[in-house]
Amino acid sequence: MIFESWDPDRAELAAMMAGVGELAADFLEGLPSAPASNLRPRTKPFDPPSEKPGEFAELLEIFKQAAGNAVETAGPGYLAYFPVGGLVSSALGEFLSLLVNRFTGVASMAPDLVAMEDSVVDWLCREFALPASAGGFITTGGSLATLSAVVAARQSRLGEQHGTGTIYVTEHTHLCVAKAARIAGLRPDQLRVVPVTEDHRMDPEAAEDMIAKDPAPFLLVGTAGSTSTGTVDPLDELAAIAERHGMWFHVDGAYGGGFQLTERGRAKLRGIERADSITIDPHKTMFLPYGTGVLLVRDQETLRAAHTADASYLQDLQRDPWPPDYCDFGPELTREFRGLRMWLPLHLHGVAAFRRALDQKLDLAQVVHRELSALSEVDVPVHPDLTVNVFRLREGGDEENRRLLEQINATERVFLSSTRLRGEYLLRLCVLSHRTEPERVAEALSIVRSLVR
Ligand SMILES: *Cc1c(COP(=O)(O)O)cnc(C)c1O
Repeated sequence: MIFESWDPDRAELAAMMAGVGELAADFLEGLPSAPASNLRPRTKPFDPPSEKPGEFAELLEIFKQAAGNAVETAGPGYLAYFPVGGLVSSALGEFLSLLVNRFTGVASMAPDLVAMEDSVVDWLCREFALPASAGGFITTGGSLATLSAVVAARQSRLGEQHGTGTIYVTEHTHLCVAKAARIAGLRPDQLRVVPVTEDHRMDPEAAEDMIAKDPAPFLLVGTAGSTSTGTVDPLDELAAIAERHGMWFHVDGAYGGGFQLTERGRAKLRGIERADSITIDPHKTMFLPYGTGVLLVRDQETLRAAHTADASYLQDLQRDPWPPDYCDFGPELTREFRGLRMWLPLHLHGVAAFRRALDQKLDLAQVVHRELSALSEVDVPVHPDLTVNVFRLREGGDEENRRLLEQINATERVFLSSTRLRGEYLLRLCVLSHRTEPERVAEALSIVRSLVR
């Protein structure tokens, strides 16, 4: 099909949608049997676009081939880093958002869509038991959410004097905090690393000691689900320290925050409701496609105070307190409408489906922990707070363990990653995708079992 005009007519659109629909159906049908990873190095660049129009079906085929040469991050065997799969309903929502192409940087251009996005944020605020002053917005990911949180904290606690003022983190704090601090104009020496306890959590006594001696502490970052081990810091104690010293308390729940939707998760995350800001990544713990992060803040006005800017060419735009003008909350002005990629799945599947699925992942991680611990050949040093397990061969050094990871991944049924804890190499298995069911976890365990024996 070659197009004469920019917009397809009804018949052309139907043909295009049919082509996309076929591709989607083949993809989904193939996921259970697709290799978990099967990569060929790319050796030559893609052709530049031609002056002449291309054939839609051929272009789709090129995309399909390219997408095929990748780690199967959407598949059930993906147990590396933070697996999520990506809900189809969210992808369809995204298509529709891009189709209607509404401007949602300010609310007055599409007030109902902005209110729709705000309803999702508001629902999350309630799940996290934040007060009525709370708010936030959907970002493209945890790193961007954290950037706006750090900028809001800096503005709120330091104003324009940010040459002094210190941030407290641990060795397990995600790199996005240091990155955000740097982008926010803070120097590396304004970051202080608090020691962790034996079980890899921020040591609250050490934090209190360091902060009490510091003339200008302004931001304390707790992690709700660390990247290496999924460990949750003692949030309630950290919240008390932050309050005592007038600090902003940020919780990085990019991975773990989503478990607030479950009863067990809420118990683990106790204290998160005292945070001044919370990063969550629905593209991790709500099964949504990459590009979906959320920042929640205790007081929406703090976000506004830190990000709002004005210009004469925006004078025609009406500015009301609600629905919010998202350009006042973060670095973007023009943005895609990100509300539907969350609103549609939540309303279509119902919230209980998310709670159940996350509960199942918590169960599966306990199964992994129990089964791995039962193997005399491996050491499983951390009991999982959430859904990350780490392990290593008892006999053998880093090299043997690295080889074990290679052998596991060479089966192409599962794909695991690794990390380091106190200098030691560890294999890492995270159950999180909505497509990872008990069968694939059992298969992963049997692969590990047969390889370590
Ligand atoms: C993934 C992650 C981030 C970064 O989020 P992105 O969505 O990758 O930008 C930050 N903190 C933690 C704990 C994470 O797991």
